[in-house]
Amino acid sequence: MRLIDGKVISASVKERVKNEVALLKREGITTGLAVIIVGEDPASKVYVANKKKACEALGIISEEYALPESTTQEELLALIDELNNKESINGILCQLPLPKHLDEQAVINAILPEKDVDAFHPQNVGKIMLGDYDFVPCTPAGIMEMLEYENIDITGKTCVVIGRSNIVGKPMGMLLLHKNGTVTICHSRTKDLKEVCKNADILVAAVGKPRFVTADMVKDGAVVIDVGINRVDGKLVGDVDFEGVKDKCEAITPVPGGVGPMTIAMLMQNTLTAAKKQNKR
Ligand code: NDP
Repeated sequence: MRLIDGKVISASVKERVKNEVALLKREGITTGLAVIIVGEDPASKVYVANKKKACEALGIISEEYALPESTTQEELLALIDELNNKESINGILCQLPLPKHLDEQAVINAILPEKDVDAFHPQNVGKIMLGDYDFVPCTPAGIMEMLEYENIDITGKTCVVIGRSNIVGKPMGMLLLHKNGTVTICHSRTKDLKEVCKNADILVAAVGKPRFVTADMVKDGAVVIDVGINRVDGKLVGDVDFEGVKDKCEAITPVPGGVGPMTIAMLMQNTLTAAKKQNKR
C-alpha cells in the first residue's frame, strides 16, 4: 500500500503558485481573492480562515467580507457586483452554504464567470462538460493533481465515483472521463453498490458518511480516494474505513492529510489562473 500524501502534494502545488504569483508581481500584476462569508457557521469560518492563511503564504492579496446573517439577497448581490468590477480582485468566492433565506444559485450566477474560482457558475460547469475549461471545482481538481503526481494512469481504467453532488461527484466523473477512464457515478439509489465498487480500479468516495466504504467493496490493487470529512467523537474521519481497506489498495489517501489540503491549494491555483487570464498572460 502506498499512502498518497496530500500535504506533500499540496505543498508542491502551492510552491508552484507562489513562484508564479511572484513572477506576475515583478510585472506589476497583483493576484487578489475576495472571500464572502454570510452568517456565523463555525465550519465555514474555519474554512475561510484557512483560505486567508493560504493566500497570505503565497503572496495573494485576500479580502474578507464577513456579512451578518441578516444580509438580504439585494445586499449580497450588490457586493458581488462591486467585486465583479473591482480590478484588484481576480477571484470571488462565496462560502457555502448560505443562510436559508438567500438564493444560492442566484448568487453563484451573479459572479462573473472569469472570476468564479470555485467553478460553480453554469458557464464554467458547461465548459467542464465540453472539456474546454479554465477552472475546475477545487476538490476534483485536487484529486486529478494527486493522481498525476502519483503517476496513476487513468486511461482505460474502471473508475467509480460514489456521490453525484455538483461540487464533487459530477465534475469528478467528467474529469476522469476526459482522461479516458470508464466512469460510473453512484448515488443513494444505485443498486448493488458493493458489486459496482468492487470493479473499480480507481474508487472515489464522496458520500459524507463515516467509514462507508468497507474492505468488501474494494478490489485488490485499487486506488482509493477518500473525499469525506466527517466528525466522529471530535475526530476527523473519511468516507472510507481506512484501517480495513488500506492493505487491499495499491494506493490510498488518508483523512486528514489527503484530499482536504489539495482543495485549498487548487483554490490558490484557480485564483492565479484568473489573474493570468484577466491580464492576458
Ligand atoms: P453531498 O451530500 O452533496 O452528496 C453526497 C452524495 O452521496 C449524494 O450524491 C448522495 O446520493 C450520495 N449518497 C448518500 N448516501 C449514499 C448511499 N448510502 N449510497 C450511495 N450514495 C450515497 O456531499 P458532497 O459531495 O458535498 O460531499 C461529500 C463528502 O465530501 C462530505 O463528507 C463532505 O464533507 C466532503 N467534502 C470534502 C471536501 C474536501 O476538501 N476534502 C470538499 C467538499 C466535500 P443522492 O444524490 O442520491 O442523495
